[in-house]
Amino acid sequence: MIALELQEVEVDYCTDCGGIWLDAGELELLLGNAQNAKQLLHSFKIDSHSTEKTRKCPICLKKMQKIIVGSSTPTLPLDKCPRGDGLWFDKGELQDILNRAKLDKDNKIQKLLADMFRK
Ligand SMILES: [Zn+2]
Repeated sequence: MIALELQEVEVDYCTDCGGIWLDAGELELLLGNAQNAKQLLHSFKIDSHSTEKTRKCPICLKKMQKIIVGSSTPTLPLDKCPRGDGLWFDKGELQDILNRAKLDKDNKIQKLLADMFRK
């Protein structure tokens, strides 16, 4: 994992799988205070029926919980530490959640991520 700075928020990026780890509170910082973003953050639900493989939290090594974000389909599944250390985003999921938050197109984070993942 390497540390990346996205708009003054330090995130951990895995160069092997393209996943991103955000410490607790960092997603809020990235999304900012837009109304859409707040709604999205309040829409997190634990998915106890998920059949996706569970990951381990990189900080406490506990199995993470599957979280469903938003109500639009297809739903976006995320992994969340049960202790609240933070959130894991598989490749592309951070962009997905930012898209769902309907941040404006000039948003710096969107651009940074687009640059990062362009191959
Ligand atoms: Zn943890």
